[in-house]
Amino acid sequence: MSAPVFHPTIPHLLTRRAALLGAGGLLALPALGRDARPQPTPPSVWPQALQVPGGVARLSLGPAATRPVAQVRQGDADVPVPVLVVGDAIEWTALVGIPLAAAPGDAHISVVQTDGGNARKVRQVPYTVAPKRYQEQHLKVPPRTVDLSPQDQARYERERDHQAQVMATWSAPADGNLPSLRMQVPVPGRRSSSFGLRRVFNGQPRNPHSGMDIAAATGTPVVAPLPARVIDVGDYFFNGGTVWLDHGQGLLSMYCHLSSMDARVGDVLQAGAAFCKVGATGRVTGPHLHWGVMLNRTMVDPSLFL
Ligand code: ZN
Repeated sequence: MSAPVFHPTIPHLLTRRAALLGAGGLLALPALGRDARPQPTPPSVWPQALQVPGGVARLSLGPAATRPVAQVRQGDADVPVPVLVVGDAIEWTALVGIPLAAAPGDAHISVVQTDGGNARKVRQVPYTVAPKRYQEQHLKVPPRTVDLSPQDQARYERERDHQAQVMATWSAPADGNLPSLRMQVPVPGRRSSSFGLRRVFNGQPRNPHSGMDIAAATGTPVVAPLPARVIDVGDYFFNGGTVWLDHGQGLLSMYCHLSSMDARVGDVLQAGAAFCKVGATGRVTGPHLHWGVMLNRTMVDPSLFL
């Protein structure tokens, strides 16, 4: 297995930055951005680590006879969320999705280790979230999709509650471990790098863009990026025709604005199996696939899995 990937801590960055500022003034500032980039991960290991809001932390949990149970507390949620753990008795690794709304600085997961009998240890594994400033994107969409009517608002709230249940899906893979988490691109086409953009619809700020947009014609088949189970199929106010896939241990993916959904809840898909088609349904400016990837109930940058 790979060596653990650790990143410079914020204090280190600040010290280095201060030193550079002393020597070279503002010209030294890009060094901060360079330091904040992920350390290279071995090419056989996915996802790439990127410890910024919307990124993924890869945390070494060391050896253990059985898979450690890891949890993370997010935002103001009262209940900790389970974290995906991959590896084997030699080396376990936690893959932690970092929310786009996460504050830069120190964070940690809690790891429960049981060794055979009753011995049960809880320890904290720290990591650091580096700052990342995402660009702003201005979009023009039909006014009724920004200023919601009372009926549309009620519909949106029902759908939001339903989606929250879908996002809480947690399943253990049948073989006890996950295959490689390297994902296939779900549809060929130009991939935007718009993940994390702070979006302004018709002049009004809304939630940041939490996925990747891939330009493709209506009707283009979309394939599963990993083996999956279909956990939701629906038509939603903002997202239009939507399918959610479960890849195990809280790794989910979502496909939005679809023109057709050729799958039912409970279907099991092989990687590469077509299950829906690109469209322009919901709040869109044209046909494309919106592709979201979720870890521990957190939308993360899909490009880290490619
Ligand atoms: Zn999108």
